[in-house]
Amino acid sequence: MAEKTYNITCIVCPLSCEMRLMVKDGKIENIKGNRCRRGIDYARQEFYNPQRVLTTTVKLKGDRLPLLPVRTNKPIPRRMLKECVRYLSKIEVKAPVKLGEVIVSNILNSGANVISTKEVGSTGVYRKT
Ligand code: SF4
Repeated sequence: MAEKTYNITCIVCPLSCEMRLMVKDGKIENIKGNRCRRGIDYARQEFYNPQRVLTTTVKLKGDRLPLLPVRTNKPIPRRMLKECVRYLSKIEVKAPVKLGEVIVSNILNSGANVISTKEVGSTGVYRKT
């Protein structure tokens, strides 16, 4: 039977515990190095279904800048990142755009919205928040 070990750094709190996962036949058998239960939950999530917040840009019209920075409002499965970036590369938004405005709702059925991380006005100048 195939046994492997993986090292994962817990990022749940600033202690950054270095954890070692013993994996057999694709299943976690043992986790060491965590100082609390949250580390186990994080390691399981990271091993079985890693998730990330996607940050990227979309095309912007009607402003002096050509791109609007955006991000997902929550982590999405890492395997969906490329597909979402490809989808967003075809999106074009028009200024003005508010900070936190939803640009794409429930992107590719991930359950996450893509939101603006800048407020831009139609005059070509960033609005102050
Ligand atoms: S395992 Fe617990 S103590 Fe260690 S970094 Fe994660 S949350 Fe913090």
